[in-house]
Amino acid sequence: MNILVVGAGIAGPTLAYWLAHHGHRPTLLERAPALRRGGYVVDFWGAAFDIAERMQLVPRLMREGYLVREVRFVNDRGGRVGGFDASVFGRIAGGRYVSIPRSALSAAIYDRLDGGCETIFGDHVVAIDQDERAVRVDLAHGGTRGFDLVIGADGLHSEVRSLVFGKPERFERYLGHRVAVFQVKGYRPRNDDTYLMYSTPGLQAGRLSLRNDETMFVFIWRDETRAPLPHDRASQRALLADRFANTGWECRHAIEASATATDLYLDDVSQIWMDRWSRGRVALVGDAAYCVSLVAGQGSALAMVGATVLAGELHAADGDPERAFAAYEGRLREFVRGKQIGAERFAEWFVPPTPFRLAVRNAMTRMFSIPYVAERAIGAELRDVIAIPTYR
Ligand SMILES: Cc1cc2nc3c(=O)[nH]c(=O)nc-3n(C[C@H](O)[C@H](O)[C@H](O)COP(=O)(O)OP(=O)(O)OC[C@H]3O[C@@H](n4cnc5c(N)ncnc54)[C@H](O)[C@@H]3O)c2cc1C
Repeated sequence: MNILVVGAGIAGPTLAYWLAHHGHRPTLLERAPALRRGGYVVDFWGAAFDIAERMQLVPRLMREGYLVREVRFVNDRGGRVGGFDASVFGRIAGGRYVSIPRSALSAAIYDRLDGGCETIFGDHVVAIDQDERAVRVDLAHGGTRGFDLVIGADGLHSEVRSLVFGKPERFERYLGHRVAVFQVKGYRPRNDDTYLMYSTPGLQAGRLSLRNDETMFVFIWRDETRAPLPHDRASQRALLADRFANTGWECRHAIEASATATDLYLDDVSQIWMDRWSRGRVALVGDAAYCVSLVAGQGSALAMVGATVLAGELHAADGDPERAFAAYEGRLREFVRGKQIGAERFAEWFVPPTPFRLAVRNAMTRMFSIPYVAERAIGAELRDVIAIPTYR
């Protein structure tokens, strides 16, 4: 079948890889002019690690990724107030754990396509029209094209979802936080293999030193007002400066340094909840269908799992979309729901809102050095209970 896959993030290239593997002809459509670079670092483990193995990606991911040794919570002056030896993650996950820039993960998956898939950069879908046999797609720049199926892998703010399923507010569940991420070159100080986090009630700033003298910052803050987020860089930096104006540690220095960042990602922390992930010959995968949010720390993993299952079920159903989409949802829905509910609950602790909760969080993390406590606190989260068939 000719299948349009909209979005070349994590789910899109994974899906294109498996569709081509099963003998279909995928076309990847990406709104950005090239694969996105920079951005945040994602933790990668569990079921997605198995899929990375099947795609022979693991050596590259381990080479380009990071094994963070310490998570350290710091106070206004940078002194340690909590944290833990981060090798606990790798130990519980049996060594199958790596932290990797999202863009490096995306590029590694895309490169596995080895040119075996048409990719259109710098374009997007403006209309989708389907009947029982085909889907007609109008592109903003590339005219009209016909496909057997269209899959939206275009992330949290999916355009395919808006065009086919309805307005974003029907599906989006805002978790009460905003996030900003950027990378700068030459920032000092550096702390190799250590993720530093500074928190005050309702605010959190994190810093991770990367290779090539790059440093990644993640700022997260609670925001119940949900005022519209600015799109121009100067206003985005002004918003950050305003939010973190009265905080300590390196916040002001980091926000000043963001002037040199090539990319600044600013967004709501939200989930996507849908009753159905398909309609006729159009389906959704990854964040577009079931975003779990950064709080779950597993969105990339679920994007890869979903894409692998979707392509596999299409193969198993001999290309019958109705059967395939039903089987895809049947396999994943409960698993994803569990991750979403877990993240929703954890959101209250992710950026503690009160001094008391902050103190509890810091004290708890200090106890992660005791294996039993670490196992009880995060062991279940690091083991995915889902069997992904080997589709041949
Ligand atoms: C700060 C932060 C930290 C995170 N940490 C983790 C973590 O530790 N572990 C983890 O597993 N996950 C993490 N995530 C989540 C993870 O990054 C996402 O869940 C994952 O990237 C989802 O993959 P996706 O392919 O569905 O969507 P995306 O990666 O968002 O890709 C969507 C793609 O579609 C493109 N696109 C958008 N609209 C259109 C359009 N109209 N037409 C064509 N193309 C379009 C976009 O440019 C993009 O390339 C984190 C997220 C954030 C924001």
